Amino acid sequence: MSMPIKKLTTALVGALIVAGASLAASIVVSPAWAAKQTFITIGTGGPTGVYFVVGNAVCRMIHKEAAEGRKSGRKHGIRCSAPSTGGSTYNIGQISQGELDFGVAQSDWQYHAYKGDSDKVKPFKNLRAVFSVHPEPYQIIAAKGSGIHSWADLKGKRFNIGNPGSGQRGTTEVLMKAYGTSTSDFALATELTSTEQANALCDGKIDAFGYTVGVPNAGVAVATDGCDAYIIDLNTSVEKKLVADTPYYAFATIPKGTYKTTDHDVTTFGVMATFVTSAKVSEKVVYEVTRAVFENLDDFKKLHPAFANLDPKNMIKNGLSAPLHPGAVKYYKEKGWM
Ligand code: GLU
Repeated sequence: MSMPIKKLTTALVGALIVAGASLAASIVVSPAWAAKQTFITIGTGGPTGVYFVVGNAVCRMIHKEAAEGRKSGRKHGIRCSAPSTGGSTYNIGQISQGELDFGVAQSDWQYHAYKGDSDKVKPFKNLRAVFSVHPEPYQIIAAKGSGIHSWADLKGKRFNIGNPGSGQRGTTEVLMKAYGTSTSDFALATELTSTEQANALCDGKIDAFGYTVGVPNAGVAVATDGCDAYIIDLNTSVEKKLVADTPYYAFATIPKGTYKTTDHDVTTFGVMATFVTSAKVSEKVVYEVTRAVFENLDDFKKLHPAFANLDPKNMIKNGLSAPLHPGAVKYYKEKGWM
């Protein structure tokens, strides 16, 4: 979706003014802005999730670099937007179609899309990694009084398996398969989005939801702090096998005190949030996006508590199974990180 706008010379601007209002109205004319502009779009997740913050933080750093570049003369001409989307597998699919330039995606779906070994995400050989961001534990949040304390307790309950296109939908299905559970084992399997699920739980419409998300998260807090829902432990032999058998799952701890109802360290398994693109996106654009993030990493980290522990040496390798995009490699080599 990169849309270069042709450089307009002063002479051409003059000609356009003569050519009349209708033509001039359809073309952005800014004689002070001589560099070619490129618009990029980053796929995120639901508006209450952490992906939405990642995408908008990246855009903010790109625009910060643009503003500073206008003073120093180092112009990159990139303009960025990061709309809310359905999540990981939606983003990967739209990048493969050229509808999005970048996206945030769980490391498990990055892996499966690149390898082409899952029916939950389309094979995408041109998928490229840029960096990884925060860890995302897979969480089952259960309503107060629901009696749910393990996966087995979900039987006969109303469970939100998540909207198609979200990372948690896919990861929930992986867990269902591992436990030998089908949707008919639930009293109701809903497909609510990450934004809808916490309110549905507090309104008594569902008993639990599954969500792969960074910690802390405002959407989870709606349920935990708003109506005393709690996160259950997931560390049976089933999760142990998933972690042992795959490169993209790891055990994760949600520390006691994170939410109002987190009365002990919760153990579950999780993935990494990763920032991905396509081999078809230009080296220049990926270089500038990568540079904008890492040159301003301290500012970036302040934009969400889940970013507190971001460290370049981990970000350039953890959770990345697709090859790194050459534009990112160029920056990492310049920094001496590779
Ligand atoms: N992990 C979720 C997904 O892949 C999104 C979480 C978030 O929005 O922060 O859809």
